[in-house]
Amino acid sequence: MKNNEQKVMLTGVRPSGNLTLGNYLGAIKNFVMRQNQYKSYIFVADLHAITSPRDPAELKTAINDCMAMYLACGVDPEQTIMFRQSDVLEHGIMGFIMTFQTHMGELSRMTQFKLKSQNVGKNGIDTGLFVYPPLMSADILLYNTDVVPVGLDQQQHVELTRDLAGRFNKRYGDTFNEPDVYIAPVGNKILNLQNPTEKMNKSDGPNPGTIFLMDDLKLVRKKIMSAVTDNESVIRFDESAKPGISNLISILAATTGESIEAIEKRFAGHGYGDFKREVADAVCGLIGNIQTKYQRFKNPDVLDAILTRGAERARIVAAETLNRARVALGLK
Ligand code: ATP
Ligand code: MG
Repeated sequence: MKNNEQKVMLTGVRPSGNLTLGNYLGAIKNFVMRQNQYKSYIFVADLHAITSPRDPAELKTAINDCMAMYLACGVDPEQTIMFRQSDVLEHGIMGFIMTFQTHMGELSRMTQFKLKSQNVGKNGIDTGLFVYPPLMSADILLYNTDVVPVGLDQQQHVELTRDLAGRFNKRYGDTFNEPDVYIAPVGNKILNLQNPTEKMNKSDGPNPGTIFLMDDLKLVRKKIMSAVTDNESVIRFDESAKPGISNLISILAATTGESIEAIEKRFAGHGYGDFKREVADAVCGLIGNIQTKYQRFKNPDVLDAILTRGAERARIVAAETLNRARVALGLK
């Protein structure tokens, strides 16, 4: 049994574009708030970014931007082990091993796969889109992770990880820790402001419905003020009847910590204009703060030093776990 200080928390983001408000509220914020309570790991999931072809120069920039953004969002590199996934080669082998614990049916049932494979190019569905969940399982299991803070869209993949760990342990003996998912009660699925039935995705690229942490604050304000709502003129949380307003309420609640009920009460009798202005103020306050810090952390030498040290520390634990798995499998 681990005591509390030995408990491990881990999360990661794909460098598949600039980070969004959804990435911050759904995953990064929840990690940062708890990083002192756990042995903490955060990584840039760069192997997950090549599940579909990418421009190498753009990818390189995206990886560095993502790291600088983590720091700007409050990740403390003294407290937390920060690393680039592809620097720790054990992810590749463990990903391979976990893929072979997985059934085709399990992967075909993954909601993210079903959603993302709807918009395929002329060459059909990329294999990477199909097989990335077991690589994600490897990412988690290598560090004996206890808790994985993620947005709602990734819950299914963490649950698959639990299943795969359990299956492996049953077959080959106790090898992996079975992790729990942590989903924030508010802000776990931020929706596109122009299309509030769809999740806000960083890989959608620039569009009026996605708020990027690097967006100019004037643009952020404009995006929020033009968010799609409804004709009712009542500020009330009802995800199916009022997805646009409910999304804005979630954004305000997750940004400021005020409860949904308190927001509904405070805005009783107010119009959408007043409400949107307050959401815009809160989000611009948050993002403005992150942007100021981001400028400080953009230095490539500083980032490199943090990543090199992070990878060294991560590799020690990853190698131990991989070794255990190889012994269990009879590979060693
Ligand atoms: P992509 O479009 O490349 O899939 P993404 O925005 O979905 O990008 P990921 O890198 O897939 O981001 O996920 C990083 C983390 O952010 C995950 O924990 C995921 O659950 C969380 N997350 C992503 N989008 C949202 C969102 N709209 N609301 C809340 N959490 C989110
Ligand atoms: Mg995603």
